[in-house]
Amino acid sequence: MDTKYVFVTGGVTSSLGKGIISASLAKLLQKRGYRVTIQKFDPYLNVDPGTMNPYEHGECYVTDDGAETDLDLGHYERFLNVPTSQANNVTTGRVYQTVINNEREGKYLGKTVQIIPHVTDEIQRRMKILGDSGDYDIVITELGGTVGDIESLPYVESVRQLKRKLGSDDSVVIHLTLVPYLAAAGELKTKPTQHSVQKLLEAGVQPDILVCRTEHKLSKEVRNKISLFCNVNQNAVIESIDASTIYEVPLLMEKEKLDKVVLAKLRLPSNSEADLDTWKDFLFKLKHPKDEISIGLVGKYVELPDAYKSIIEAFIHAGAINECKVHLKLIASENINEDNVIEKLKGFDGILVAPGFGDRGIEGKISTIKYLRENKIPFFGICLGMQCAVIEYARNVLGIEDAHSAEMKDTKNPVIDLMENQKDISQKGGTMRLGAYKCKLEKGSKSYTAYGKQIISERHRHRYEFNSKYLKKFEKKGMKAVGINPDNDLVEVIEIPDHPWFVGVQYHPELKSTVDAPHPLFVRFVKAVLENK
Ligand code: GLN
Repeated sequence: MDTKYVFVTGGVTSSLGKGIISASLAKLLQKRGYRVTIQKFDPYLNVDPGTMNPYEHGECYVTDDGAETDLDLGHYERFLNVPTSQANNVTTGRVYQTVINNEREGKYLGKTVQIIPHVTDEIQRRMKILGDSGDYDIVITELGGTVGDIESLPYVESVRQLKRKLGSDDSVVIHLTLVPYLAAAGELKTKPTQHSVQKLLEAGVQPDILVCRTEHKLSKEVRNKISLFCNVNQNAVIESIDASTIYEVPLLMEKEKLDKVVLAKLRLPSNSEADLDTWKDFLFKLKHPKDEISIGLVGKYVELPDAYKSIIEAFIHAGAINECKVHLKLIASENINEDNVIEKLKGFDGILVAPGFGDRGIEGKISTIKYLRENKIPFFGICLGMQCAVIEYARNVLGIEDAHSAEMKDTKNPVIDLMENQKDISQKGGTMRLGAYKCKLEKGSKSYTAYGKQIISERHRHRYEFNSKYLKKFEKKGMKAVGINPDNDLVEVIEIPDHPWFVGVQYHPELKSTVDAPHPLFVRFVKAVLENK
């Protein structure tokens, strides 16, 4: 069968949850037996979000092949349990980079290079890469931004052209809008949706399906009105009512028959029902916990929880499987010091020290870890969190007072140092140690028990590493390197065996936690916290 294409655009306002709608639709189609992937096209000029401050953009999600991508790709993986790759996230910066390189290489044969056709052709080429691979029956393409933005125009134009080329049975356009409730009038208002569809029509695209975000149920009258004025079938006006958790959205979309309407439009069979038993089981456990724990996430971007999106979601998965409600609270590392650490960490059953860059709040993280180590409170350190655990141990157990990371300070004792192959790098974008690397775990370690196997593969995003020159000293004093990269001997996991749970990892386990496969380290950490409570 030919690959079918679903395009998801957004109107009225940003943050309507296009990513969750796309992921939910993909899940329903996947559960009906279709091979589905989702890709996101972002209209900004950065080549990728890797160079953006988390406050700008939230977390930077890293794929197995080392792409630094939009956090929506995290949702795609968490819902579908299928890895994404560089091809799943394209930005305007990347598109222009290719077009300009082509121009320099003379590939346009002397033509004037223009947005149409050169940029739109490049966008369409990229929209089809995953579909052309033959690995997927259906490719869902989410367009970032809002219809009507200047930046979005080349993408909407590309959708218009591609839709024409593919033919109407092979493509479908879903437009996500907002139907606000005006309390004063006591009514849901359809005008913003009408205007948003008009904007799309101006660009030559008639949406086939409207997904309407709303706080109240859409009455039959409201649905009819939207159908009539926006020129879509009545069954293609889909209500997307606020949900208590994003994981409920696939079930809400199933109830609204979004998948059936899409399949009918694509002339694909929808006889069998989507098998959502495991998903429902997860949701049931999520909503009916038997226990509860309180975990603190110590980090520096606490004003913006999206900066820790994958960690927050990994705790939701791990909590559900343990039938335990995880109350996760973000704590600003900047405000913690040796004197107030007891008070700041009061009431938490376990602490995760977050990844990060730069020295703001670093001493707060180190004070936190000292307190957790000495008081035998479960600690989980990720990337910078693991590096801080190493610094703390060096200072307070090995007695190396000036121990630090070379990222933060010029010191005679860089227990965390720049990786050898990072030393000559000056460009910032895409040059960290990125993507999946193998790691060999020591039998008997807590990590080995969690994974249940010795060879694992995890994703990375860092420039600094455990300085192996100091390894013997650490091991002699009780901190063990229990996970090592078998190809280059880099330390990947440190543990203190004589502690209820003291585990630090150089990689990012949170990026691989999904509903179908919660991450073993998060699962065991939650379990350890429960047992230690
Ligand atoms: N800043 C540290 C490094 O580059 C840690 C990075 C991270 O936590 N992702 O090595």
